[in-house]
Amino acid sequence: MKVILDLDTGIDDALAIAYTLGQKKFDLIGITTLFGNVTVDLAVKNTLAILDILGFSFIPVYRGASHPWGTSGYETSEHLFQIHGYNGLGNVELQQSARKEEDLTAVDFLIQAAEKYGSDLILVTAGPLTNLAEALKKAPESIKKIGKIVTMGGAVTLRGNVTPHAEANIFNDVQAAAYCFNQRLPLTLVGLDVTLKTMITGADICSWLQSDNEASRAFVDFSNYYYTNEYGDATIGGALHDPLAVAIALHPEWLTQSIQLPLMVDISEVAYGRTSSNPDFLMEPNPWIQVALDVNTQKFVPHFITTLEKVLAESSLAK
Ligand code: CA
Repeated sequence: MKVILDLDTGIDDALAIAYTLGQKKFDLIGITTLFGNVTVDLAVKNTLAILDILGFSFIPVYRGASHPWGTSGYETSEHLFQIHGYNGLGNVELQQSARKEEDLTAVDFLIQAAEKYGSDLILVTAGPLTNLAEALKKAPESIKKIGKIVTMGGAVTLRGNVTPHAEANIFNDVQAAAYCFNQRLPLTLVGLDVTLKTMITGADICSWLQSDNEASRAFVDFSNYYYTNEYGDATIGGALHDPLAVAIALHPEWLTQSIQLPLMVDISEVAYGRTSSNPDFLMEPNPWIQVALDVNTQKFVPHFITTLEKVLAESSLAK
């Protein structure tokens, strides 16, 4: 299977890249980037640097959206600086890549890959839905050929993490998310409903230091920053939001409970960015969004930890 990751490369995006690369039967054919945890410039820079440090400099990186629909710019919030650091990687400075992004845009790459690989393609989005919405708008028939789309985003059964209603990826481009849902694009939503069940703390990641190389030190340093700062309490830890979306995409059997819903994104002022059932489609026989409600944490978290252990150990050989 071919895989594309669509990322706003902060810390858990970087963890998702490493986790995907560690699963050799899946072929990561490209990473599309956009604003969100960081600006799109930083998302491109961080993605290239992470691929370099892991020894995968041959994987192409594509530049996507710089700002949400209906706006002319984007500024990273203080809240995101607190979680991901000022550079998106917990203020850990990685060597700048000698590579640049591809000339092709993220949107055109998504469309071309959808046409080329169709049902053999898995797309995991773990940032705002802007790139996907633009690709869907430009070439709906192509995007609907993608075999599986898994989106980290939303909070259906619990409160949001930006406002009481909204989760960050949806909140960062409410209009784009609303467009994807309203177009009835079938996707699996891996939201806070499940990602908050997959927390890590310092004790979980200490095995990564066994390999003691550039990549393992960087991954431990920025993960330490993340689990300390996401909730401001290192004992609570940080959630494996983006890696869990990869896990559900590549190991669907770990999704132990879900519900099909005609999901919409609330654009009203009172509940801006809330993901909930569209009351106009409650009798819909085939609701198009699969909302993850429970996952096999016992399988996923150890698999994530050991997969990264292996990727980090092999990183110095891969270069
Ligand atoms: Ca992300």
